[in-house]
Amino acid sequence: MSTIISILVKYNQLLLSQINQLLIFIAKNIPLSKPKYDITSPKYNKHAVDKVPIIKIFKRLDYKQLLTETFICPFCRHVLSKKKDRKNFYIHKCINKI
Ligand SMILES: [Zn+2]
Repeated sequence: MSTIISILVKYNQLLLSQINQLLIFIAKNIPLSKPKYDITSPKYNKHAVDKVPIIKIFKRLDYKQLLTETFICPFCRHVLSKKKDRKNFYIHKCINKI
């Protein structure tokens, strides 16, 4: 019984080595043909896979610190809203209509 298995294993190794030699022969001597279809065509865009999304890990913010940084109108104590962007800072304005 064990001789049959050992013979089959040797035969299998022989076949694998022949397959490897044939693959090397094919890779060296037979050039690959160009694909029939241009896969970069917009016609095939619906079959394309999107790029992998970028996953960002956000820094956890402390709400107490954010509340202390909130701009409050010194006259009416209303929260100021951001009105204009400047190069290095923002301009906040009170929009309280009372
Ligand atoms: Zn105000």
